Amino acid sequence: MDSDTMPAGREMDALVAERVMGLAWDESRCRVCGWPLATDVMQSSAGCYPGNCSLRPRPARNADEPAHYSTDIAAAWLVVKRMCSFIGVDDDLWGRFVDEMNTAHDYAISDFLSHASPLIICRCALAAFRTAT
Ligand SMILES: [Zn+2]
Repeated sequence: MDSDTMPAGREMDALVAERVMGLAWDESRCRVCGWPLATDVMQSSAGCYPGNCSLRPRPARNADEPAHYSTDIAAAWLVVKRMCSFIGVDDDLWGRFVDEMNTAHDYAISDFLSHASPLIICRCALAAFRTAT
């Protein structure tokens, strides 16, 4: 599904985590609690091994789940912060993000940052990265 029409939700959150935030899960860590996995199942009595987390009770959110970028404004601001980190590093990428905000949504950047919804922030960031290739 195209990120321009994709609704806010977990699918978009996963896309943002991967493409914008550059997050890839470290397979040496437990996907549930995030602690390092035991490399030898026989010696895992005090830890987690693939497919079996030792944490009880289990956390409300698995460690490998993306933040709610497209529905939570606090998480969406992490996306804005990530995009700002490209200023002076990859000005083309930053420029595309600004262009997306200015043209597609007809906001001045100052208005955008105070009025944009988490979904719009995610869509603009994804669009900036999509045209990067
Ligand atoms: Zn675990």
